[in-house]
Amino acid sequence: MTDQVTGCCVVGGGPAGAMLALLLARRGVRVALLEMHHDFDREFRGDTVHPSTLEILDQIGLADRVHELHNSRISGPTLLTTRGPFTPFTLSRLNTKYPYILLVHQKDLLALLTEEAKKYPSFQLLMGANVTELIREEGIVRGVRYQSNDGLHELRSLLTVGADGRFSRVRHLAGIEPVRTSPPMDVLWFRLPHLGEDIDAPGGAFGGFAHGHIVGGFDRKDYWQIAFVIPKGSYAALRAEGIEGLRRQIVDVESRLAKHVQTLTDWQQVSLLSVESGRCRQWYAPGLLLIGDAAHAMSPVGGVGINYAVQDAVVAANLLTKPLLAGCVTTGQLRAVQSKRQWPVRIIQALQTQLQKRVIASALQAQEETALNIPWLVRVFTKIPFLRDIPPRIMALGVVRVRVEN
Ligand SMILES: Cc1cc2nc3c(=O)[nH]c(=O)nc-3n(C[C@H](O)[C@H](O)[C@H](O)COP(=O)(O)OP(=O)(O)OC[C@H]3O[C@@H](n4cnc5c(N)ncnc54)[C@H](O)[C@@H]3O)c2cc1C
Repeated sequence: MTDQVTGCCVVGGGPAGAMLALLLARRGVRVALLEMHHDFDREFRGDTVHPSTLEILDQIGLADRVHELHNSRISGPTLLTTRGPFTPFTLSRLNTKYPYILLVHQKDLLALLTEEAKKYPSFQLLMGANVTELIREEGIVRGVRYQSNDGLHELRSLLTVGADGRFSRVRHLAGIEPVRTSPPMDVLWFRLPHLGEDIDAPGGAFGGFAHGHIVGGFDRKDYWQIAFVIPKGSYAALRAEGIEGLRRQIVDVESRLAKHVQTLTDWQQVSLLSVESGRCRQWYAPGLLLIGDAAHAMSPVGGVGINYAVQDAVVAANLLTKPLLAGCVTTGQLRAVQSKRQWPVRIIQALQTQLQKRVIASALQAQEETALNIPWLVRVFTKIPFLRDIPPRIMALGVVRVRVEN
């Protein structure tokens, strides 16, 4: 077992961990980022970079570089309804330099953040480092033990941050249990090709609902990324029908995909994404802080999880850089991170839950309905200037705007 020492040990190289490690390193804090995988290319976890994150990347000089990555843009979805196409919101009116969602492969974003962090001598990236234990001294977390190809290692630190996602090992080892609010849906995720006569989605995304299923599509320039939303637990029955059953159900919702779905020939092309959400009552313990999905697992509704994880990282870096440089981080300072972030998280999770319960769950149960019927109140709401921009503003910029303090 090799002993190493650092100021801050960040467990998990997802959006939260990578951003926190970069922000601390550029302020001169000694920081080690531990990621259990050997690369960033793994199961799908979203690739939406919202205006709030683009603004943060701009503040640290990375906005141009993120726009150079393979990307496409969404400004608002076009929904297929009983009364024709309907655009519930658009980001293009928002007061921001980046009035759109940038779709970027998450592995490219994480590579960009960690490559940037490597420019700072105080940063250390440990790939293939699977954290298995917390080091505790007199009730205070003082680092981690991790397994890598060459054996078990010990990394001691002033502060340990669990940014290791929804199934956080660090959280479990700390004895912190999240309150789960599992929403009633799963998502099938697959690609369909762009064809000559294609779907018209001027805002970069389309959506439709019929016969108890929901289809969403995102324009990725060279293909359509499709989300097929199904009731939780119904995957086995769908699979038993064979891939032709899936093709039929997609076309039932969106007949314009009839030719596209012919390319779906094997279940290997389809990923099942299990959706859950929840949050911890307490995000910290002496010597330890949880951020991102480890503190509050986000459902994919609105595609905001990455952005909330990044905002947690910014707030943690703003509040903890000076204490880390001074060599003393108190529990009160860790509590302050939770205090600043827990209300924005609670509000967005409440909105997600309402949307899931009222819109998505009822759409999934409505076997007889053949298309979305948008209530007149919603149609009126989306026409009132000021009011119509509140939901997209919360989704795109967060409940509270977060800035990097240099
Ligand atoms: C089906 C689905 C679709 C989603 N779609 C979107 C979307 O489109 N847009 C969006 O914004 N959000 C989306 N989300 C939510 C989003 O994925 C999360 O909110 C976001 O990834 C949280 O970032 P994070 O850094 O906290 O955690 P994660 O991204 O989960 O990163 C955690 C990292 O920790 C590593 N790790 C775990 N355990 C250990 C260990 N013991 N030792 C070392 N490393 C470890 C993992 O390998 C991982 O790299 C989706 C979620 C789901 C489930």
